[in-house]
Amino acid sequence: MNWLRRVMIGRYGVDQLSIALLVISVILTIVGIFPKTHVLSTLALIPLLLCYFRTFSKNTRKRYEENQKFLSFWNPIRNTFTKRVERSKDKTHRFFKCPKCSKTVRVPKGKGKICITCPICKEEFIRKS
Ligand SMILES: [Zn+2]
Repeated sequence: MNWLRRVMIGRYGVDQLSIALLVISVILTIVGIFPKTHVLSTLALIPLLLCYFRTFSKNTRKRYEENQKFLSFWNPIRNTFTKRVERSKDKTHRFFKCPKCSKTVRVPKGKGKICITCPICKEEFIRKS
């Protein structure tokens, strides 16, 4: 493992964007198995090579900036997904969107018709919990 450590000195290494490129490459490879043409499998090489290039790149500042751009695009998507999963697991609360400011409000489940006051804009609306 020491030789690998020596090779990686001063190099950027793996980050979220590199992992995403690797995942795209794997997906293209798997999808590319089924059709008889090798277009997708060949296309899968592009993100794979980009991933290698980024990992071994010595221009760490540029790679860091690329990763930040990727994260500013990816994090909202990931957060929306994790919120949905958490809400579907929550069996004791219901979630409603405020009709005025669109903020999500969490209320306890099974309380019948209740008047909900939005904590942000103080708008009141009635929903069945
Ligand atoms: Zn509101």
